[in-house]
Amino acid sequence: MTHPLTRPGGAGAAPAAEVAVFGHVIDGREVMSADGATFDSVDPYTGEAWARFPLGGAAEADLAVAAARRAFDEGPWPRMGRRARREILTRFAELILAHGDELALADTRDMGKPITQSRGNDVPRTADNFRFFADHALLATAEALPMDSGHHAYTRYEPAGVVVAIAPWNFPMMLESWKVAPALAWGNTVILKPAEDSPASATILARLALEAGIPPGVFNVVHGYGPDSVGAALTAHAGVDRITFTGESATGRVIAAAAAANLTPVSLELGGKGANVVFADADLDTAVDWSIRAIFTNAGQVCLAGSRIYVHRGVQEAFLERFVAAARAMVSGDPKDPGTQVGPLSSAGHHAKVRGYVDTVAAAGGAVLTGGLGEGLFVEPMVVTGLGEDAPHQREEIFGPLVTVTPFDTEEEVIGLVNASPFGLNAMLFSENLSRAHRVAGRLTVGTVWVNCFFIRDLRAPFGGVGDSGVGREGGTFSREFFTEPKAVVMQIDAARD
Ligand code: NAD
Repeated sequence: MTHPLTRPGGAGAAPAAEVAVFGHVIDGREVMSADGATFDSVDPYTGEAWARFPLGGAAEADLAVAAARRAFDEGPWPRMGRRARREILTRFAELILAHGDELALADTRDMGKPITQSRGNDVPRTADNFRFFADHALLATAEALPMDSGHHAYTRYEPAGVVVAIAPWNFPMMLESWKVAPALAWGNTVILKPAEDSPASATILARLALEAGIPPGVFNVVHGYGPDSVGAALTAHAGVDRITFTGESATGRVIAAAAAANLTPVSLELGGKGANVVFADADLDTAVDWSIRAIFTNAGQVCLAGSRIYVHRGVQEAFLERFVAAARAMVSGDPKDPGTQVGPLSSAGHHAKVRGYVDTVAAAGGAVLTGGLGEGLFVEPMVVTGLGEDAPHQREEIFGPLVTVTPFDTEEEVIGLVNASPFGLNAMLFSENLSRAHRVAGRLTVGTVWVNCFFIRDLRAPFGGVGDSGVGREGGTFSREFFTEPKAVVMQIDAARD
């Protein structure tokens, strides 16, 4: 197939005919950086710089923390009650849906995600996250502990304070909302630093938040890079009460070290190397269908991507025949086209990293059954077999549309293969034997196991990883624990007994 892109995007990319300008949103005002510095977001499909952003630094981090602190200490938000906050957050969710086209196009232009995904999945799920956490905060009950000493104890969940949320580029608005929604619902004030490769939707969200009635200073957005930039300044800031981060494991380590200096609690959602196990008794159509979606959705740029498939030797041939045919049938192209299933990789820098793995398959002893480098920043869905467990492709997070398929013989063996990874985010099991699925699920060192399905998320369930995949969990009461300071209150209620 042919793409119009001949020039990969990157630093110094030519500007589009019209470049949109987005600001930081600090204390309710959209502003540029004090020193006037800017950076551009390059559309990875056209290779053109389509939007310009202020490049924040320590000065913007200070301003945003001061605004969020003031809004927390003096403003109405932490004190207004969960019912009132829920009303405003519900209005925010409605505005997100109403502005769905604008938000979806922003993410698609920033990082190349197919529009069907950003419009059909990410927008409604972003809105849903604000609705869910607003409802959850209202309905969550605190523990009451009647004591037989004539006392009564109960738990209050009080907002933690100023929250810094640092997000990656692969599901921009959606992952940001997993952090911002519970933080706001529990009465905190927030500073969001979106990824520099996908900054636009964050500013749009902050504009809509103000329109919904979220007071100035409660939801701030600052743009810029991570190291030696606004990201590092925020994570080292003594005025911050919580840091919630999603991104690479290496970055998580740096952020945890910065936070340790101030003893700031951190929640880390990090990288993954999702294992996908197809047992001999699996329904192969189901296994192929979910395995395709698990690795090629968003061009494999998914923390949960099922990038290692372990298939029972007895069904390997039948599985591969269908799987390779389905991979070949994936339609790649302009991410703005509703017919596109696979877009370009998010940036020239990320493409170079993925290319490093594509180019070394043969040297590592692997065979490519389909796919490979495409034009511009495209990598066509790639299926690789024959790699040993020590190959980098098998051990490291590639974050691209490259999947390895490896045979196994016994249940015990495959449990060992899955657990050998330093990452422990998720696994998928395909089997018609639910006893087996239940047994194996209990033995895997991962945060989520999907059985005969994938991507299904209940927002009450814990989401997070083990080992290099992170620290802490997001979702329902798990988010509450992180974004609040639980306080015990013990009251004497029976004076006569004292
Ligand atoms: P990244 O770590 O490079 O960047 C993430 C964010 O951190 C960006 O906003 C970046 O500017 C910022 N940052 C980088 N260095 C920093 C520093 N020293 N101090 C403060 N901020 C800093 O990650 P990425 O490339 O944007 O995202 C891809 C990664 O995210 C993959 O590893 C993927 O698995 C992971 N991810 C994990 C989950 C999950 O839920 N576990 C979800 C999505 C993505």
